[in-house]
Amino acid sequence: MHEFCPCCSKKIYQECCQLMHDGAFPENALALMRSRYSAYALSLPEYIMRTTHPDHGDRLLNKEEWKMKILDFSRTTQFHRLDIVNFQDGADEAFVTFIAHLSQEKQPMQLHEKSRFLKIGSQWLYRDAVFFD
Ligand SMILES: [Zn+2]
Repeated sequence: MHEFCPCCSKKIYQECCQLMHDGAFPENALALMRSRYSAYALSLPEYIMRTTHPDHGDRLLNKEEWKMKILDFSRTTQFHRLDIVNFQDGADEAFVTFIAHLSQEKQPMQLHEKSRFLKIGSQWLYRDAVFFD
């Protein structure tokens, strides 16, 4: 069965974020950001964990706790739509500003975030974020 990718690329999942979820490196930080959104939507905590920068605070958590935290967010959240507002590329640091349209317990919410990504070797990793109201 072919379904559209949760990242709203209008491509089917198998030709979009699944490639990265199966191990391909995203071509840039924007592709990484989209694939992480999809991973949250599809409850794939391992992908979130392995694409998080070693200096991110969540790395201090016990691995099982961290995994449960991600799964808990995935299970209690509906992922409706992802809008990319801005993408600022760079050689080893890049920024993606986006609005994620979500809901929890039927309450709509928008996550407006500017995420920072750093490249280690040939792999982009999520470092941290600034949130907007
Ligand atoms: Zn996708």
